[in-house]
Amino acid sequence: MATYQYLQLEQHYIDIYDSGTIDYCRRFEKGFQAKVDKLLPKKRPTTTKKSQEHPGGVVAVALYFYSGERAVKKEETIQKWMQEDQARDEKLATAEPPNNILCSSCGKAMTCETKDLYHAYEFPLRVLFLFRCQPCNKGRGVFDDGKEWKMPKKVCPKCSAVLQEKNSRNNKAIITLYTCLNCPYKEKEVFTLSSPPQKEEPEDPYFERDRARFCFTKEQTSHYADFTIKLENVTKMFGESKKLDKHKDVYDAADQLQKLTIDQLEKTLITVMTKNGYIKLELGKPEIDKYVIIPFTVRDAKPDREHRSSEIDLRRLLRTTLEPTSWRLVHDGVSYRLGILSGSLKGYEQEEDLVRLVEQRKTPRP
Ligand SMILES: [Zn+2]
Ligand SMILES: [Zn+2]
Repeated sequence: MATYQYLQLEQHYIDIYDSGTIDYCRRFEKGFQAKVDKLLPKKRPTTTKKSQEHPGGVVAVALYFYSGERAVKKEETIQKWMQEDQARDEKLATAEPPNNILCSSCGKAMTCETKDLYHAYEFPLRVLFLFRCQPCNKGRGVFDDGKEWKMPKKVCPKCSAVLQEKNSRNNKAIITLYTCLNCPYKEKEVFTLSSPPQKEEPEDPYFERDRARFCFTKEQTSHYADFTIKLENVTKMFGESKKLDKHKDVYDAADQLQKLTIDQLEKTLITVMTKNGYIKLELGKPEIDKYVIIPFTVRDAKPDREHRSSEIDLRRLLRTTLEPTSWRLVHDGVSYRLGILSGSLKGYEQEEDLVRLVEQRKTPRP
């Protein structure tokens, strides 16, 4: 039983791969040129030498990287394609037709006529055997795992019922008439037999020229690979030094936070609070652990200030006052009852905590 052979000479795969590269590069060049033409003023009589050079340079760099990336993946891709085709050939060669396939009309044993891969580019691979009954000419398709192949049924696009199918044939065509038995839908399909001979695709006269332009030689590929490794290292180094710079800013800012003693903090708060109508600040017993936490109460001296706005005003005031210092309002919250506002203050000392305070300052609060 003759079967199709998938595996070809290596050059076949090289040509396919290269034509993919060439095709992309040509389209890229063309597309880029079209964009440049659009951007250039229409009335300009001739393009100056300089403006011609510039886009050319950009395209060349972009294409260099594209070609380079294609080139470094070329060998691996071609190996994979060849291995897959080899697997197809092996699958076909080793697949044995199932035994005892009988004709569904006359019950006689059928003979296997062909074997092919079914959807050859889908994995896992499946082999389809076609059997024919010699006396009554009926056919049957059976897969290598013994499952029966079934002709997919065409359904009515209006009501989804299975369409009835009638074939007729003349010298020129096979005509299939589909009729829905559930609704008035009808459809005609014509398969022309005497199709004009397919014109062979003309050979691409610039293929070799463009292969030389866009497809790297082995030597160019290894240059490119070395170059990109170096480039990657430089980028990494550059990124790290930028990160250090960024960190330096944060550390400097953390260093500049005012580390207030409890006494200094109290004085600062009393001054700003009094100005804003909050009086009689009282600090509670400090809790001294990893951080220093001090509960506080203060009275609202503005009787007209409603409790929600009293809370909001004080919170905003504390936020602004504490921001340049090493102190913060715990949970960013204060609560109000009968004109008394309460909350807790937290003091930070460790460098890592101070850095975090600076970083939090950068993220906007709701
Ligand atoms: Zn039969
Ligand atoms: Zn229908």
